[in-house]
Amino acid sequence: MDTTDQGQSSYAIQKNKTWSLIWKLGVTNANKMLIWRACHESLATKLNLFKKRIVDSPLCPICHQEPESVMHALWSCNSVQDVWGVSLRKLQKGVVMENSFKELWTLLIADLDSEELEEFAATVYQIWKRRNSLVFDNRFWDPGKVVEAARSAVSEFKEANTTIEGVQAEIRHSIPIWSPPPLNTFKANWDAAVDRRKSKIGAGVVIRDWEGRTVASLSSPKNFFPDAYLAESYGVLKAVILCKQLGIKQVIFEGDAQQVVKDLNYQNQKGNSAGMILSDVKALLHHFDSWSVVYVPRACNNLAHVLAKDAIKLSEESIILGDIPSCIHPLDYLS
Ligand SMILES: [Zn+2]
Repeated sequence: MDTTDQGQSSYAIQKNKTWSLIWKLGVTNANKMLIWRACHESLATKLNLFKKRIVDSPLCPICHQEPESVMHALWSCNSVQDVWGVSLRKLQKGVVMENSFKELWTLLIADLDSEELEEFAATVYQIWKRRNSLVFDNRFWDPGKVVEAARSAVSEFKEANTTIEGVQAEIRHSIPIWSPPPLNTFKANWDAAVDRRKSKIGAGVVIRDWEGRTVASLSSPKNFFPDAYLAESYGVLKAVILCKQLGIKQVIFEGDAQQVVKDLNYQNQKGNSAGMILSDVKALLHHFDSWSVVYVPRACNNLAHVLAKDAIKLSEESIILGDIPSCIHPLDYLS
């Protein structure tokens, strides 16, 4: 249940919508900022500068007829109405007469679809740009050119964004993800975590079948010398023991500790604690009908990683059969 709106008045909800919509528009950030500032009456119009005693006259620098409020500069000045006259049909002269830009914006978000709102926002941006260009460079251009500039800004933004989305999709696609083992074979992913301050290590193991179903998961803490290689060796030992206990015959062990995988696949014998653990692992591996120990990048090993991190917080080993433990976020489950 979504409870975020609870206790909020409809005014507050509408207000939130007013602001959140600005940030969702398919226009540049500078354009979004301009709309936001216009809604907050914080543009450097002549009237605002006059109120702060920065300029001598509040009059509009274009028509010289009325004080240049935000609403006047962006909407009601005759020179601006000429722009809206050739813009969106819904925005043409006389259709809307609001007191403030915020009221205008609130009215428009209820009335326009997102593409029309984007065109509106982009036109406002060009109107303000044209106004500044007159004030600072003494250059001005006709309404048709303003509308044309706004439309091409929207389509340029869309085009650039489609490219970005395409690139992002490609990146997502190229990130390796966990893949299920062949039929009738199980896959055991292991990982380890180290807490140097508490001299504690944690092992995480998840065993899944060829359809990706979780058969068992384990989180095992141990007070041990906090060394990464040792922790990873302990992790693979836990994975091998759990598979053996479950009566699994064909298994692929996957871990992201390159050195441990290497040492298990070659006859590297080390005389230290980790070396002794790995000798035990090698002896146990012979009990399986078929087995392999392979290296995978971290991205393919997230679930075991989460379990290992969780293990450090535990005081005793936890094994869960056929279900996903509560420490796993639904998103982690995908990797
Ligand atoms: Zn004016």
